[in-house]
Amino acid sequence: MDDAAITYLLWQDPVGITRARGLPTRDLERRAEAGLGWAMAGHALTPFEDIVENPWGPMDEARQIPDLSTRFTIPGDAANPAISAVLCDSRAGLDAPWDCCLRTFCRDALEAFQTATGSTLVMAWEHEFTLTGDDLEPETPFSLTAARQRHAVLVDIEAALQAAGVPAETVEPEFGLGQYEISAGPEPALSAADHAIVAREVIREIARRHGLRASFTPKPAAHAVGNGAHLHFSFRDATGLNVTAAPDGPCGLSDVAARFCAGILGHVDALVALTAPSPVSYSRLGPHHWSCGFRAIGVQNREVTLRVVPGLSRDPEKAARSFNVEFRPIDATASPFLAVGALVRAGLEGLGGEHRLPLPAECDPADMDEATRARLGIMVLPTTLSEAVDALEADATVKGWFSDALFSTFVNLKRWEAAEAAADPEGVFARYARAY
Ligand code: GLU
Ligand code: MG
Repeated sequence: MDDAAITYLLWQDPVGITRARGLPTRDLERRAEAGLGWAMAGHALTPFEDIVENPWGPMDEARQIPDLSTRFTIPGDAANPAISAVLCDSRAGLDAPWDCCLRTFCRDALEAFQTATGSTLVMAWEHEFTLTGDDLEPETPFSLTAARQRHAVLVDIEAALQAAGVPAETVEPEFGLGQYEISAGPEPALSAADHAIVAREVIREIARRHGLRASFTPKPAAHAVGNGAHLHFSFRDATGLNVTAAPDGPCGLSDVAARFCAGILGHVDALVALTAPSPVSYSRLGPHHWSCGFRAIGVQNREVTLRVVPGLSRDPEKAARSFNVEFRPIDATASPFLAVGALVRAGLEGLGGEHRLPLPAECDPADMDEATRARLGIMVLPTTLSEAVDALEADATVKGWFSDALFSTFVNLKRWEAAEAAADPEGVFARYARAY
């Protein structure tokens, strides 16, 4: 690991960009306690080169303190030096947490969940991305030809993910032209969020080494297939047993899972501002995109917010072990820490039982008439970032999960992004493709 000359300290900001400052690797251990400084106002950076209104002045500084357990290396090759990096918690001082640290927001939510239920959350991410940058014409969707076209890149990505400690579970060509997907296996939720960030950076780096760009933007072009970052979750009891399923529960969900899902759906209009947080996210969401356009739940239904994924085995016990739920209105412009923290907070709100789970959607909700959707409790999700941010600001419960500084900065960022997109509705796709 120490053959990397520089180690980058990494953290996520509210727009889901992984920011970095580096130091000589030989100094890492010595400087790990105090980390590196970063102006708090950096949390107000847009995905581009602007900074929005925020509560911080020139003297407010956060410390980016590395969590050495997250350190990883992208091995070098003949032409490229190895890259070492480590994820940080952002703190206001050595002994002072910062109430705007996204990783802390995520960790606190997961700890609150564990305290409330005695269970833990296990999560797994899917990473869809588009490869561009040479003039090869993309091959037919899902075909072996499309896989072979980028096989050399995919092989190197697979190896680099493995070396970085974030192994792939599947590697495949997707539906979009030039679109590929790598999914990760399930692991404890904080680690899964950490590893989602690492995996994206590894994929970007290996693509770069091949003279390509990997973009995780939710919508590479107005009519392109979208890139999702579907998030699977399941619940484990203290013995590690998957307790997500119950044969008699709604959609086959256990009581805790059903209530958790009801909490998510109860707050989903506000949640999508955090999980699908870019103007182009709303070009991805919507009916018939297999992304999801409706507040709904259904077994194996790929057009709803929560797709229940039963395990598959002749042995019912084994099937229960892989039973999980997939949250679909999420993309890689969301910080994994913000998205997971907010989903877990919403799920926790549901545990009290005051949110009713909608009836299962047994077909594409877009094919139902309005009256059927209303009877089942299915609603259209926000269709623009502005609508989602309106819902976020209107939901006092969701607002209460955040410090005022983080909430107001996030809203300022999203209002700014919505206004920029409105000023250049055609250029917006290329802009986000470049930033993400
Ligand atoms: N690309 C789709 C999305 O934007 C997902 C397709 C799939 O189900 O894998 O979410
Ligand atoms: Mg996919």
